Amino acid sequence: IYILAIESSCDDTAAAVLKNDQVLSNIVAQQAVHEQYGGVVPELASRAHQQNIVPVVDVALKKAGVKKEELSAIAFTQGPGLMGSLLVGGSFSKSMAMALKIPLIAVNHMHAHILAHFIEEGTPKPTFPFLALTISGGHTQIVQVNSFFDLKILGETTDDAVGEAFDKSAKTLGFPYPGGPLIDKYAQNGNPKAFPFTKPKVEGLNFSFSGLKTQILYFIQKNQAINPNFVEENKEDICASIQYTIIQILLDKLKLAVAETGIKQIAIGGGVSANSGIRNALLQAEKNWGWTAFIPKFEYTTDNAAMIGIVGYYNFLESHFSNSSVVSKARIEF
Ligand code: ATP
Ligand code: FE
Repeated sequence: IYILAIESSCDDTAAAVLKNDQVLSNIVAQQAVHEQYGGVVPELASRAHQQNIVPVVDVALKKAGVKKEELSAIAFTQGPGLMGSLLVGGSFSKSMAMALKIPLIAVNHMHAHILAHFIEEGTPKPTFPFLALTISGGHTQIVQVNSFFDLKILGETTDDAVGEAFDKSAKTLGFPYPGGPLIDKYAQNGNPKAFPFTKPKVEGLNFSFSGLKTQILYFIQKNQAINPNFVEENKEDICASIQYTIIQILLDKLKLAVAETGIKQIAIGGGVSANSGIRNALLQAEKNWGWTAFIPKFEYTTDNAAMIGIVGYYNFLESHFSNSSVVSKARIEF
């Protein structure tokens, strides 16, 4: 089975070709245009998708060595995401599937961030049921995964996503967008206990990050007023402290989820799972608490089409197809 997968939910135009559960090619065209605005500009994103999609798909097929006539189906991101961006990938996929007379498979982007763990890499995969912690630019969720298609959200953020907590804190520190990876980089040489921040009190398995964001903003403003070089002089300790607090918030909720469900397999996904601090914390949790942690390969953490392809593959096996009237959705449930 050859699946062409297309992802265009936000600001990356991505295409991948899978042979069954193996990735033959995985191409991502990033959009540099947003950096100067400090965030993704939806209008510019959809225009860039329109420019990128044909060459990106072309390269993905060439690199895979697969002709379009050999494709078994086309999988694309139906949502959630930016409407203008989703529509570009959606209409492209529909027309291509129609022209080739092959099935179309609509994929939920958050489902894909989770099933990315089932891309065949020769590494151990989680077994059902497991807990997925999906941490990305737009989401923060703990999901109980009972099978490929039976997923239940146990908790999620009530305001900002964890990626936003990273990026907005980074913006406060004057870093370019997206600043999450820079916080990670500076944190590696800093003292995580240098500046203690308070964790929000949120009931159950839900999260909140907007209070932390404000707390960090006031902390920086106050200290910059006293010493205009405060950030410059303490960059590493500030980043380490921010990252430490965010990781503690995530770990607290994971511990609670493990206690409530008795499930000790934890699979992280989404862009923030590239963070070295969260990766180390999970390795520690394996040692200290007997958890089994699953950490995806870097290229399958941030947005990519291979993860859309693996969901496409499992849908194909079940003959779960969409018809050409399927609509893109900015918000979507499992
Ligand atoms: P969603 O999947 O919710 O629609 P998205 O697709 O925009 O959102 P991803 O591409 O999965 O999000 O993740 C992007 C986020 O990951 C950004 O907020 C970015 O700062 C963050 N990120 C990437 N690498 C790191 C890192 N090493 N440390 C912290 N954050 C990181
Ligand atoms: Fe994503």
